[in-house]
Amino acid sequence: MLILGSAAVIVALAAAGLWYTKKHAVAGNPQVKSQPAQEENLTYEAKYQTEEVKPLPVPPPHRSLKLPILMYHHIGEPPPNPGKIREDLTVSPENFQQQVQWLKDHGYQSIKFSELYQYSLGQISLPKKPVIISFDDGYQDVFDNAIPVLRQAGMTGSFAIITQYPATHSGTNFYANWDEIKAAQDLGMEIVSHTQDHFDGKNPKYSAAFIANNLAGSVSDIKDHLGFTTHTLIYPYGRYTPQYLELAKKAGFTLGITVHAGNTVDLDNLMEIPRVRVHHTTTLKQFAEAVER
Ligand SMILES: [Zn+2]
Repeated sequence: MLILGSAAVIVALAAAGLWYTKKHAVAGNPQVKSQPAQEENLTYEAKYQTEEVKPLPVPPPHRSLKLPILMYHHIGEPPPNPGKIREDLTVSPENFQQQVQWLKDHGYQSIKFSELYQYSLGQISLPKKPVIISFDDGYQDVFDNAIPVLRQAGMTGSFAIITQYPATHSGTNFYANWDEIKAAQDLGMEIVSHTQDHFDGKNPKYSAAFIANNLAGSVSDIKDHLGFTTHTLIYPYGRYTPQYLELAKKAGFTLGITVHAGNTVDLDNLMEIPRVRVHHTTTLKQFAEAVER
């Protein structure tokens, strides 16, 4: 009886040892694959254990990209008596030309918002020093004065259109028409949404239904005139709420561009992308510092 009992213990210990060795051979190094024949010999419990110790998927680390996104409005000479805001939004063609030349001399290559999105998905790589040159509102002077400079330098620009405004004007603000916008697109420029009518996304008087219709409407306006679907929205006045962001995503936007200051994009927060504002009075030195910071 004693002998039989001891034998049973020895067999049990040997089996446990074998099981232990197999389990840890797999657990210790997840790269090592056990032989299929061996796997078949594992007990149900051993298989279960082996599966359980497989490493969990590692969550992606916080991802960011150094990418200055320049923010312009008017490129031209300010009108007579422009007022402080209109003047601040206006960069002279000479200054713009120097800024673009500086980018080129320092190895920057322009990309589009759509390329930033593709990059965030791991679908494409980007140039070593990417820059996005964005223009808000779709002013006529930008199409007249900025595009020739960009083309000369081999750069592209991204133009945010208020889709009910083309060919209209208000005070000293003249808006390019759809033919001019289409011509820019044909030259390789990027067109994105700036809503249908530049409404203030933080003003509580706008209902969720209004916001949803306006954002979706801007996408279909661009599709009707230019034949493609944009997924980039530049927020008018940089104003939005958490609810607005959700409605923008539902309308198909994958990138949201703010007026927050910064030159680094958080690739895990693409609905709140910061920019580098260029003012009327920005010197080349200040420009360089803001881009390189
Ligand atoms: Zn605007």
